[in-house]
Amino acid sequence: MRLVMLGLPGAGKGTQGELLAQRLGIPRISTGDMFRAVLKSDSDLGRRVKAYVERGELVPDHLTVALVEQRLAQADARAGFVLDGFPRTVPQAQALDEKLLEAGRPLHAAIYINVPQEVAIRRIASRRVCSQCGATYSQEQVAADGSCPACGGPLVQRPDDSDETARHRLQVYLAQTHPVVEYYRQAGVLIEVDGQRAIPEVLGDILAALSARQQDVEASGGR
Ligand code: AMP
Repeated sequence: MRLVMLGLPGAGKGTQGELLAQRLGIPRISTGDMFRAVLKSDSDLGRRVKAYVERGELVPDHLTVALVEQRLAQADARAGFVLDGFPRTVPQAQALDEKLLEAGRPLHAAIYINVPQEVAIRRIASRRVCSQCGATYSQEQVAADGSCPACGGPLVQRPDDSDETARHRLQVYLAQTHPVVEYYRQAGVLIEVDGQRAIPEVLGDILAALSARQQDVEASGGR
């Protein structure tokens, strides 16, 4: 299946994207993770994207689209993918559609995890990431010694999750990314779920909607 995850920062795109990827046996492709890896590398691209990521601004479309195209060309993405954090602008969504249509492999669904802004702000403030294995937790899930439950590594707050930058990212989302939700709604591929339910329930809602959608498509003789 070819899927994209949409929603405010903190909506649960990463968590649900990872669960879906495991369930469907396809890779989760997170542009945020890719940019963070690029930042750590001493590369020309790293130097070009650093300031954007640190300020919570969007990296320019041409750089982002090129990075995603390269990643989607890799063998493991042939069976499908879950894109997390991409597309974040309407031109990115159009570029993705164009590429996928060219290859005769259109998107199956765009999954929009809907949470109110206050919930997103609260979740971002409590998000902690393992600097060793990259796993993400909310503060309540973490032991008092602040180590990663999976690998024991140190848990830290993402620099762009600090209050001011996180609020800026929400503004950027509303101005530039929310129109992508409407773009996919109009294209008839949007699945909207309530992101305030518990993690397994949200996953169940997404899987049920995907399966209903698949049956509709098969009944109409489509893709
Ligand atoms: P995330 O982990 O998805 O919140 O992404 C972290 C940061 O990476 C964002 O604040 C942007 O600076 C950059 N980024 C990630 N995905 C994109 C994208 N699709 N377009 C532009 N910038 C992005």
